Amino acid sequence: ATPTAIMVGVGKGAENNILIKDAESLELGHRVNAIVLDKTGTITKGKPEVTDIVWESTEAGDHARGVLLGMEAQSEHPLAEAVVRRLQADGIRPAIIKGFNSLTGQGVEASDEAGERYFVGNSQLLQERNIALTTELEQQSRQWQDQVKTVVFFANEQQVLAVVAIADQLKPSSKAAIARLKQMGVSVYMLTGDNRQTAAAVAAQVGVTDFKAEVLPADKAEFIKQLQAEGKLVAMVGDGINDSHALAQADVSIAMGQGSDIAMDVAKMTLITSDLKSIPKALQLSRKTVFGIK
Ligand code: ADP
Ligand code: MG
Repeated sequence: ATPTAIMVGVGKGAENNILIKDAESLELGHRVNAIVLDKTGTITKGKPEVTDIVWESTEAGDHARGVLLGMEAQSEHPLAEAVVRRLQADGIRPAIIKGFNSLTGQGVEASDEAGERYFVGNSQLLQERNIALTTELEQQSRQWQDQVKTVVFFANEQQVLAVVAIADQLKPSSKAAIARLKQMGVSVYMLTGDNRQTAAAVAAQVGVTDFKAEVLPADKAEFIKQLQAEGKLVAMVGDGINDSHALAQADVSIAMGQGSDIAMDVAKMTLITSDLKSIPKALQLSRKTVFGIK
């Protein structure tokens, strides 16, 4: 492409939230035939969110909700942060709690002002204390686990008062963007350090059939090398510190703008939007730049 065409391309990119650092990636983009996507923070939002809460009965009223909020507000666990955001959005006010304590590997415990004990945590926490769970809530939590959601239990010393489902949500644009890339003849792969079950669920939801779970950061770069050895021209999209080796190895590297500074430093293109539809747009932009199509 001519210098003028490159300049126009970079400008068009910027208008579409695509920052292009070098002319080479703009020229290579149209030849990309394999794209590797990181899961967390790229395909998904990368932040756990509460998807559902079911309370044991309507009797578990504002006080119980306030205790749950009061407890989780004192915890720094990412699951707790998700619970706090949700309850605050629901307009719940935190109750005063005392004797907050972390239970390693299980959750947290505390008392309300009247001295009643409460617990927030996983199923191990319930088992160890013989806390009862109604059949209904048990079935509900099984169903969420099948959907690869993380289940958090809130209980007093006798019984479970609420179950909460938490998941890292898909970005709304992921599925359509991946479909568009496939339509353009690009093979799409997903890599993640996450476990196989979660990876499989996310891949299925966005229409990716080629994915690898439990991948170490160095292995992400190795995976790209293998695709290149098969003669593919590979683009990598990532957001984390984890992804910097893979970004450096790829022929075209794309960082998600809300990701780590390292990813943005290494990558030759940065998407300043979290919208994955900018990826097919970037490849299209390269096509237009190189072939001079309007
Ligand atoms: P990790 O940091 O690996 O999650 P922790 O010992 O901090 O290990 O917690 C272990 C488990 O206990 C978590 O995976 C979660 O299921 C539960 N847990 C811990 N803290 C909380 C909390 N504040 N709210 C809900 N669940 C929690
Ligand atoms: Mg921890």
